[in-house]
Amino acid sequence: MDRKRNTYFHYGRAGACLLLAVVGLVWLTGCSLFGSGDETVRDPNADKPQPEIVRYTGEKSKVYPFVYTAKRELSLTFNGMSDDVTMRKLLDELDRYRIRATFFLPGMRVAEEPDVAKEIVARGHEIENNTLNRLDLTKLDYEQVYKEIHLSNEIIQRETGVTPQFVRTKSGDYNDDVRLATAQIGLKGVVSYSLFLHNWQSESEPEKYLYIRKHITRGGIINIDTEEDKALLEAIPMLARAAEDVGYSFVPVSKLVAHGGIRKPLEEIKGYDAIKPNKNYENAKYNLIFSNRETRKKEVALTFDDWGTDYTITKILDILEKYDVKATFFLRANGVEANPNLARAILEAGHDVANHSYSHPVVTTLTPEQLQDDIVKAHQVITEAIQQQPTMLFRPPTGEIDDKTAKIISAIGFPNIALYDVTTFDWDANNSANHIENIIMNQTQNGSVILLHMLDDIHTIEALPSVIEGLEKKGFTLVKMADLIGLNQSGGRKQ
Ligand SMILES: [Zn+2]
Repeated sequence: MDRKRNTYFHYGRAGACLLLAVVGLVWLTGCSLFGSGDETVRDPNADKPQPEIVRYTGEKSKVYPFVYTAKRELSLTFNGMSDDVTMRKLLDELDRYRIRATFFLPGMRVAEEPDVAKEIVARGHEIENNTLNRLDLTKLDYEQVYKEIHLSNEIIQRETGVTPQFVRTKSGDYNDDVRLATAQIGLKGVVSYSLFLHNWQSESEPEKYLYIRKHITRGGIINIDTEEDKALLEAIPMLARAAEDVGYSFVPVSKLVAHGGIRKPLEEIKGYDAIKPNKNYENAKYNLIFSNRETRKKEVALTFDDWGTDYTITKILDILEKYDVKATFFLRANGVEANPNLARAILEAGHDVANHSYSHPVVTTLTPEQLQDDIVKAHQVITEAIQQQPTMLFRPPTGEIDDKTAKIISAIGFPNIALYDVTTFDWDANNSANHIENIIMNQTQNGSVILLHMLDDIHTIEALPSVIEGLEKKGFTLVKMADLIGLNQSGGRKQ
């Protein structure tokens, strides 16, 4: 934004009054004159009583840093309104890649250049409220916050015929006043973002692409500021390619929200407290389960450890679905915490989701308290993400465990510790798809538990189709680990 415009929008009181007068909104702004010092031109509304804005006492509006959904969609949003030429080029780029986006527009810019706003609507995009002047609302009193949001909505409605339903501040941050004013005005919520794509530093093109692809998440909300971002137009092809490579599509915010659900708070989910710290672990009993050698059935279990991006995990889900195979996913919960929708997507695809710790420590290196806290936290994060109690199995990171640690883990509610008998070292990117496949084909027996990983940039996805085909050719049925070992829902075992 150039200095002249900056001054005009933020401090040009007379100019702002004039613009607001044009759209008939002077009554709320405290402007009493059309320009300063001209006593002959009086605002016709000046003598009307000023309505008083009282801090709302009802419920705060909803906030959306992302939308709770396991659908393969996310939103591309823009903040601010750059110059006419840039905005039209941006619209052309979006058309080229058939992206329907959401524009959070400042009311004052819409008042100044209504044709750009109308063009955005005409091209099929959504318009929302970026506040009147994009001020730092945390520095304003409640009445000013209210007016910044309310007036912007009024102007956008008058100029474009569209009534915004969502508001976002310039920075994407918000406080209680913003939420209360949003609710008082009757809007559906405050939208922030899951990724604010700021100016690049010195990243190479492949680095930029991978960074963007990592943030293509289910229910995600990507934000770019059209006034600040120097590479705005170049970002569109990259975003389009990343979304296509992950297999997701961009939808406007209102659609994303309409498709989304409400997450229950953790305490309302049955089994959220099934795992609790317990100092009395000395005599706890546990089972280290490597496989089910007793079975006479030709059953084996595929298990996937750790965490990855939507790109990798969705590809694993697609391969499993293609072969109609159900597997068990041991999740690293600090990854789940940052992207809970992906954990939910694994569950919705019919797989079992289980605990692989929060921070992925070697469990034998922690104090009993640290270890229990880490696993309890993981249980809560995973439970909240998938909105139900996970499968009651724990797998220790790196597979390392000893008698004392096993008791500490059992005492909190995990008597069954899930290990494996077939390991391929697929987590090492130096190991090829062929290597992974050969180990599995050579080592798998009746009742085997096969360890794989859902990390990015390894060869597991490449190996997976031939692994499944090879095992089925040998007569194996692929089942969830809980079914293979006869674990019932409450965590006990049948045999
Ligand atoms: Zn691991």
